[in-house]
Amino acid sequence: MHTHEVPSYLAKDNLGPWEIYLEQIDRVTPYLGKLAYWVETLKRPKRILIVDCPIQLDDGSIAHFEGYRVQHNTSRGPGKGGVRYHQDVTLSEVMALSAWMTVKNAAVNLPYGGAKGGIRVDPRKLSIHEIEKLTRRYTSEINILIGPDKDIPAPDVNTNELTMAWMMDTYSMNQGRTATGVVTGKPIALGGSLGRRDATGRGVFVAGAEAAKRINLSLEGARVIVQGFGNVGNASARIFHDHGAKVIAIQDVNGTIHNTNGINPHDVLDHIAKTGSIAGFKDAEVIDPKDFWELETEFLIPAALEKQITAANAGKIKAKIIVEGANGPTTPQADDILSEKGTIIIPDVLANAGGVTVSYFEWVQDFSSFFWTEDEINKRLEKIMIEAFKGIWDVALDKKVTMRTATFITACTRVLEARALRGLYP
Ligand code: NAD
Repeated sequence: MHTHEVPSYLAKDNLGPWEIYLEQIDRVTPYLGKLAYWVETLKRPKRILIVDCPIQLDDGSIAHFEGYRVQHNTSRGPGKGGVRYHQDVTLSEVMALSAWMTVKNAAVNLPYGGAKGGIRVDPRKLSIHEIEKLTRRYTSEINILIGPDKDIPAPDVNTNELTMAWMMDTYSMNQGRTATGVVTGKPIALGGSLGRRDATGRGVFVAGAEAAKRINLSLEGARVIVQGFGNVGNASARIFHDHGAKVIAIQDVNGTIHNTNGINPHDVLDHIAKTGSIAGFKDAEVIDPKDFWELETEFLIPAALEKQITAANAGKIKAKIIVEGANGPTTPQADDILSEKGTIIIPDVLANAGGVTVSYFEWVQDFSSFFWTEDEINKRLEKIMIEAFKGIWDVALDKKVTMRTATFITACTRVLEARALRGLYP
């Protein structure tokens, strides 16, 4: 166990995800050579902004929500990373998510640093008008940090294209000009990019398919189980299904459905559109959420929240390949248990980089006011994912390390090279 100096502002916080990130950095440090001199820079976010967001609720009362924007690192370019609305958001979680963005952006070689934002709120308890007010107030409060060449937010858990439209509009109103490039994941009508909606899931599929190829696993009929059926989970499930794989279980916050003969994720999506939940989907049985992890399957795609695969369930997981759609789903202890068993884990910082890659395309298109075809976008996305996967797979073989450590070696080397070249100011 390593001990880390804990900054005073974290004293009462839950250290979970940030501690996991620090452990990952400790694991990669021996492989950084001379660049290890700069490694402390990765253990501290560059900037943290904590904001109070008061809004008037529909019933006339006032409610306060705590929001964050963390810029973890900007050595390689502006901050980039999503905004999460969830009742369990904490500063340390946003810090970890911002740090994973630094690693992810460098892993696929995008010209960005890492950032992330969040508001501690259960959006299910607010009306659409209240969510809009909260989004606009939060955007105004973090206005001093964000901007198309400073820090560019995007959707994450419980935020979507509409949230991005409000953020873009609010920032633009504050600036007195329309600035589409301040956020990505926008609706197409406001400078959004074709292919962005499914981009993270498409990247998850490409990464999973690359891994399968290397262990001679055919995608035809390969079983897939997915935790989370939001932006990432449902796109991943649909794209695996469309390539001949068989989705046999889906878990979300409302329950777990299972059918060994396969579930059509397109039908599940239609069912959710009609009823608001996966519960009651007729072509599958409901199983206990705990049993999800023990199912016989080739692929497991966690696409919900952090710390889902832990020492408690890792030993029971039968999947050959885990493709981390979610950020931080696996603890370091679970990582060790699974890699000892020979399970291939394609880490979040590589597997779910498709989203930020197409966000990068969106940002470039906004700057040039010239928009690409969906086919062009998907091809470029695939190329970036396959090249990154190949480079990292080779590092893993060469250094005899896991894919996670190989991704961290690749990414941290890029970030610290930039850090070393820039030098310390003043
Ligand atoms: P989302 O809000 O669209 O969907 C989240 C899904 O998780 C929902 O289906 C929800 O029911 C499910 N879920 C929530 N709590 C759960 C629980 N306790 N048990 C089981 N399921 C639960 O969010 P998203 O954008 O799909 O993000 C999912 C994950 O992917 C997050 O870790 C996010 O950081 C990561 N990610 C998202 C993107 C993106 O482009 N949206 C990109 C990279 C990584």
